[in-house]
Amino acid sequence: MFTDTHAHLDYPEFAWEIPALLERAAEAGIHRIISIGTSLESSARAVDLASRHDNIYAAVGWHPSHVLEAPDDIRADLRVLARHPKVVAIGETGLDYYRLPSTQNQPSPVSDAEYKRRQSNLFEQQIEVARELGLNCVIHQRAASEAALEQWRPHADRIRGVFHCFIESAEVMTQIIAVNSLVSFTGIVTFKNAEGVKATLAATPLDKLMLETDCPYLAPVPFRGKRSEPAHVQQVATEAARIKGITVEALSQATERTVREFFPAIK
Ligand SMILES: [Zn+2]
Repeated sequence: MFTDTHAHLDYPEFAWEIPALLERAAEAGIHRIISIGTSLESSARAVDLASRHDNIYAAVGWHPSHVLEAPDDIRADLRVLARHPKVVAIGETGLDYYRLPSTQNQPSPVSDAEYKRRQSNLFEQQIEVARELGLNCVIHQRAASEAALEQWRPHADRIRGVFHCFIESAEVMTQIIAVNSLVSFTGIVTFKNAEGVKATLAATPLDKLMLETDCPYLAPVPFRGKRSEPAHVQQVATEAARIKGITVEALSQATERTVREFFPAIK
């Protein structure tokens, strides 16, 4: 039994298909899914899905890559969403410096510096709401691990974060664990050319990691390039257990314990 700790079930790719998708997940041993919001609208859809399905939970937040569409202050709306009993975390939130305005083909309304400032502000608002409500954070960072850790550190004694879709070095993983946080791994661990990620997973303590699909993205081998779905945690888990040199059952026990600790609102 595993949890898909990071899925985007509210995306149009899954419309009308949730019951079949839950069935396939259950057959694969994936008994619980956390649907992650990427804007207030997306978060509200995740909460709605969670309210209608026992084994779906929600995280509510605003993704840094959508910062330019965000209102100046999301805190009031986020608090309302986050108080739903099936909301188990704030996120995804964080920093993404991979696609800065200067790297885009279209002219941008903001400079790179302003874009980063707005992302940082949006991240801070979500950390604030998480602290208030005693929820942990689902953190997205890309090409910004240092900045994200720096912003996170002052809060690390109060809340925990999971740095999701982790592809960084073992050194960065160690820094994350040092601030009482976790990492989670996607189908990327099954990719042949992902030697670095496999090495990081091998080095990650068994009680500091969770598994996810990030579906509809990042389908594991043998589905690579296709639409991913929560059932694919099975392939992620099989490869992760192989890399760790343990049985799938032992991996299940460890990661499920971590899931219940990190998301205490889960029944
Ligand atoms: Zn995501």
